[in-house]
Formats: sequence, C-alpha cells, structure tokens
Amino acid sequence: MLLHFTDKGIYCPAGDFYIDPWQPVERAVITHAHSDHARWGSRRYLCQDFSVPLLKLRLGADLQVQGVPYGESIYFNGVSVSFHPAGHIIGSAQVRIEAGGEVWVVSGDYKVEHDGISTPFEPVRCHTFITESTFGLPIYRWQPQAHIGEEIKSWIAGNQAAGKASVLAAYSLGKAQRLLRLLQGVTPRFLAHGAIAITQQVIVDAGWPLPMVERITPDTPRETLRNAVIICPPSAVGSSWMRRFHPYSLGVCSGWMQVRGHMRRRNADAGFALSDHADWDGLLQAVQATGAARVFATHGFSSVFARYLTEKLGLEAAEIKTQFGDEDEDSGDTGNEPEATPTAASDEAPGIHNDETLPAEE
Ligand SMILES: [Zn+2]
Ligand SMILES: [Zn+2]
Repeated sequence: MLLHFTDKGIYCPAGDFYIDPWQPVERAVITHAHSDHARWGSRRYLCQDFSVPLLKLRLGADLQVQGVPYGESIYFNGVSVSFHPAGHIIGSAQVRIEAGGEVWVVSGDYKVEHDGISTPFEPVRCHTFITESTFGLPIYRWQPQAHIGEEIKSWIAGNQAAGKASVLAAYSLGKAQRLLRLLQGVTPRFLAHGAIAITQQVIVDAGWPLPMVERITPDTPRETLRNAVIICPPSAVGSSWMRRFHPYSLGVCSGWMQVRGHMRRRNADAGFALSDHADWDGLLQAVQATGAARVFATHGFSSVFARYLTEKLGLEAAEIKTQFGDEDEDSGDTGNEPEATPTAASDEAPGIHNDETLPAEE
C-alpha cells in the first residue's frame, strides 16, 4: 500500500510525508486551509499555491510553507506528489501520489459544481481513491447554486420590506465568499463579523475579484445596521454579538439545511442548502470518474457510502476513521455514524440529531 492509515494521519512511507495530519509531523501535505485538514505544529507544509496565504492567516505568518501550482509534480524519494483542483474552496486540492506505477488520490473535501471562485473540480484517474462522504446519503441533492442565490435574494427583499436586517450564517472560508459573489448588487455594502472580514481581506489582497466587506465594530452606527445584509460565522449565532441587529431575520447557509429538523434546532428563520461539498450524485459521479477499483470513504456517512459502493457498484470499498470533519460543514453530524440506510428519505435522517449547537469554527 502506497498510503497507510496511522494515528497521526494518512502516511506515505515511501515518500515520508503525511497528508492532512492531525498531529504535528515533519512534512505535511495539505489539501486545503480548513482547520480539520490544516493543523498547526508541523515542521514543513506543502500545499497548492492559492492556499499559501490562507494557511499563513490561520497557522501563523512565519509558517514554513511551500506552494505548488495545480498539476505540477514534486518528488520525495522518487514518490511523485501533485495537486489537482477539488472545487471545494480557494486553493483546495486533491493530492495525487504515484510510485512504482501505483496511483492514489486523496480528495480532501470537494464539490463538483463550479462555484465561480474555486478552481473547478477535475477528476483524476487512479487505482485507489480516498473520498470524503460528508453528504453521502441520497437525501442530499443540491439545487443549482444560481437557484439558491435567487431564493436568498428574495428572502432579503422580504426582510427589507418588513424593516428587518438579514443575517446570513456562513463559514468564513468558502461559504462567505460564495454568498458575496451570489449576492453582488443586492446591497451597496455588505457588513460582516470580524472572522469573515479578516478572511475576505486576505483573499482580496491575494488578487481574487470579490467584494470587500465592512467589519462590524462596537462603533458601527445603529442606522447602518437597519435593513442591512450581514454575514457572520455559524459560531456567532445565538451570541450576544447578534443582539444589536434587532429586528432581524436569520438565514443559515449549509448543506445540513436540506433536512428541516436542522433548521429548527439552529433557530434559523430560513435555511439555504448551499454546500461546499458534493451531494450524493456528485460523490458517485466523482468516484466513478476516477476509474478507481478501490475506494476508502472518510468524513460523514462513510460506512453507508462505502457499503453502497461495494454492493451497488462492485468496488472494493471501506470506510476509514479520520479526524477530519470539524470545520466547514463536516461536523454537522458531530461525527456520529448514522443508522440510516442509503434509501432513508425521511425529514430527519437518523444519527444526525445531536447537534444542539452549531459546529464551532474558529
Ligand atoms: Zn473543507
Ligand atoms: Zn473536511
């Protein structure tokens, strides 16, 4: 086996490096800058070029990090490593590893619909594919993002007509940028929580053509907040920080909003199922496009998804336990494996009940 599953993370003995390790190691190859994949403490980091400023923002400006363009190979003891677009967030990559004619791909997180910001997903042929399966149940099927964008715009218009601010909860890295792009023109200025303003600053400074946001501070005049469009991380929902926005309506943007019960538990007035992860069809499409005979599933509904790949597609598939899934949407199910079968289509899929609070972000 080219890659081994160890207690520090996914390890390549031949090249002596780890992919997205969850404990400090000598050399970490990073799929993307979300905190469950890019953890602090390793000596050297390697990632796709666009991830470099994001890794420095999150792990420290003096980080030992090298960026590599998509598609370019670098070698460790003759093992080739290259990054290929995962379409998940800016700089997100699938990592392709090749040695002795054997090819493995570690997907990190991915989505197949182009969001207009992240480099679009590209399938990579391989023998063994390590796939995420955050939304690996058939109940998760996304509407096109343009459609969801229209829904959010009419929700904002309704709030404004009612004299309310529109507060949108969205992860600071990934989802917030998609919202800003989808909602361009809906308001002369976007107001945002500090976590989002800082991330946006780094992204705009790195040359991405996205709108700036105005950071909300204690000095922001109340008048500015009236009827405003405000973006905050999920961790700010329910905090005292939000009181100043009254009257407001809260919209949560997350793939988990596909399931109504989640919206109620998060006290949202509206839920928008906009995700940076592949839905059920996207996962199947991606797996099949790799041509891989062997698949390992991680994140989310991994046992259900692996069983489906084995039984329905005749692949050699298994779930692997990792520590991925504490940022962006991955922890919507707080890591509990579902009792659900792939045919579960109920409003509340079993096993994803235990999230009274939103997953913490930063
Ligand atoms: Zn992620
Ligand atoms: Zn993840």
